[in-house]
Amino acid sequence: MNIHEYQGKAVLKEFGAPVSAGYPALSVAEAVEAAKKLPGPLYVVKSQIHAGGRGKGKFKELPADAKGGVRLAKSVAEVEAHAKEMLGNTLVTIQTGPAGKQVNRLYIEDGSDIEKEFYLSILVDRATSCVSFVISTEGGMDIEAVAHDTPEKIVTFAVDPATGVMPHHGRTVAKTLNLKGEAAKQSGPLIANLYKAFVEKDMAMLEINPLILTTAGQLKCLDAKISFDSNALYRHADIMALRDETEEDKAELEASKYDLNYITLDGTIGCMVNGAGLAMATMDIIKLYGESPANFLDVGGSASKEKVTAAFKIITSDPSVKGILINIFGGIMRCDIIAEGVIAAVKEVGLKVPLVVRLEGTNVDLGKKIISESGLNVIPADDLDDAAQKIVKAVKGSA
Ligand code: GDP
Ligand code: MG
Repeated sequence: MNIHEYQGKAVLKEFGAPVSAGYPALSVAEAVEAAKKLPGPLYVVKSQIHAGGRGKGKFKELPADAKGGVRLAKSVAEVEAHAKEMLGNTLVTIQTGPAGKQVNRLYIEDGSDIEKEFYLSILVDRATSCVSFVISTEGGMDIEAVAHDTPEKIVTFAVDPATGVMPHHGRTVAKTLNLKGEAAKQSGPLIANLYKAFVEKDMAMLEINPLILTTAGQLKCLDAKISFDSNALYRHADIMALRDETEEDKAELEASKYDLNYITLDGTIGCMVNGAGLAMATMDIIKLYGESPANFLDVGGSASKEKVTAAFKIITSDPSVKGILINIFGGIMRCDIIAEGVIAAVKEVGLKVPLVVRLEGTNVDLGKKIISESGLNVIPADDLDDAAQKIVKAVKGSA
């Protein structure tokens, strides 16, 4: 689960990490109120969307030379003017895709005087099974480009979970970022606090881009992008309360209500599969035969008819789906339940694209019988290979 920058900064502040003062605003009036509470003379008006690259982003509704989604202001009146231009408009950044995201919230922040911008992130490195830091002197910009063009400018280190952050980690950060004096001393406590926040709040990723050195020689987290491990959210009611459903993929949101493991992808073949491994294999084989999956969907081992119906509806509501492949290996999951769920869903929402069904395992004969007697226009398949070829052929034929 992702949260907004201003929420992330509040979490970091709880753990003693340095952030600027600021207030969220849902309207122009609130933005003005927020600015009045800040000392000035420099303010920052920041679009709050679940995507990065806001500074360099463009608003769809504004002229091409208009400023982006993060703007500096030198007076309360300027804050007001920016808020008017930003709220309700659609911001397109390299992370939002061409559709962009509507800006419904702003964060009005006390402006900082920047000496240098750095990059710092924390993530779980599966290779070392450790929480790892990624740091670079090249902050404020696209870190993927830095990694590609000048990989030597990125330094990573893993933290042993038994010891946690040690003083030498702080020295590594200070040395890598060429920090001197007070800022060098701050680097140790800063990363210790960030590490504590990461572990205690079960974060999956914490990205501070940029971490800055102010002209007064202080370190500060100027941006905060945090995503949390969804499997651990149950023990963080405070974090769960920060969820902004308007920022989430509609299909994924709907799927989460039914406890379905669903991820929207950009292909044309909708997939309904039981078991994550079989779902991955199904997506691979669709690719092998020349098409791409429109989603990942694992309906789970104990899906009810209602769950299957919901899953089918989510797949068919995606306009890019040109064909559907249902691939079920019934173990705990019974093939007849899948068959009933599919029929119920088709009755409700109709079937406008080709549907290939491959059933195998528990109650397979009953499942096949239910489908063949339903009168639905289903293309039956015998095995995975056969199913993939049939759905690809059907989709290509209808294109
Ligand atoms: P992003 O574009 O979505 O990553 O948003 P950021 O919060 O990282 O802001 C983008 C850029 O705006 C930063 O890299 C800074 O260069 C600039 N910026 C943000 N806040 C301030 C500030 O308080 N003072 C100054 N001078 N620049 C800022
Ligand atoms: Mg940033």
